[in-house]
Amino acid sequence: MKQSRTITIKTAEELDILREAGKILSKIIKEVQCSLKSGISTEQIDQLTEKLIKDYKVIPAFKGYRGFPACACISTNEEVVHGIPGKRILREGDIVSLDVGIIYKNYYSDTAVTAGIGNISSELERLLQVTNDSLYEGIKQAKVDSKLSNISHAIQKYVEGNNFSVVREFVGHGIGKNLHEDPEIPNFGPPDTGPVLKEGMVLAIEPMVNIGSWQTRILSDGWTVVTGDGKQSAHFEHSVAITKNGPEILTE
Ligand code: MG
Repeated sequence: MKQSRTITIKTAEELDILREAGKILSKIIKEVQCSLKSGISTEQIDQLTEKLIKDYKVIPAFKGYRGFPACACISTNEEVVHGIPGKRILREGDIVSLDVGIIYKNYYSDTAVTAGIGNISSELERLLQVTNDSLYEGIKQAKVDSKLSNISHAIQKYVEGNNFSVVREFVGHGIGKNLHEDPEIPNFGPPDTGPVLKEGMVLAIEPMVNIGSWQTRILSDGWTVVTGDGKQSAHFEHSVAITKNGPEILTE
């Protein structure tokens, strides 16, 4: 959802707040990731996320956002994004995507990671590796005077070069005083189009990668996005600042 019409340029003070927000969020998601094990429910993962958010004295960005009922989006196996935590129990061999956002001093930070439960198949290992690597391929293009779609193109090229597909219907976004700011950042498209990137822009880059075809559908809960073919999907995301020294990953 667009909440601003132009791409905001953050001041040095705003960037410092976003750095702090990113550090806190990174600690939270790493702690949650450490708790993942066979037998845990997605609801329990969300409860831990909520506790950590409270402990760090920040505000959950997703809970209540357009009615979303939880602090974390938790998407398992064939679920792509926006999974609602619930009774589903994670089992050895599953993959689970955690997407968490926080508000710190009125600024937003957003990150996502996909992890395996116990031993996962070599195909799923490769899916996770390629999706994470594609995020870094995109991040490399987040530099001053480059065009936005170079990020999109780098992600698509890397993913498709590894014989997976990129989701089309959901995209990355600018971030700052709002969770979703301009620009939208697709994970596909031709190079060298779109706005020119400037120092002080902050982008949430978030490839969603499917083992099978790129098509998705939304379940009747109105939130959970699943792959059209039922095959697994992975999602990695970082909030990234564009600086004169190159991309600065805020949520690492
Ligand atoms: Mg996001």
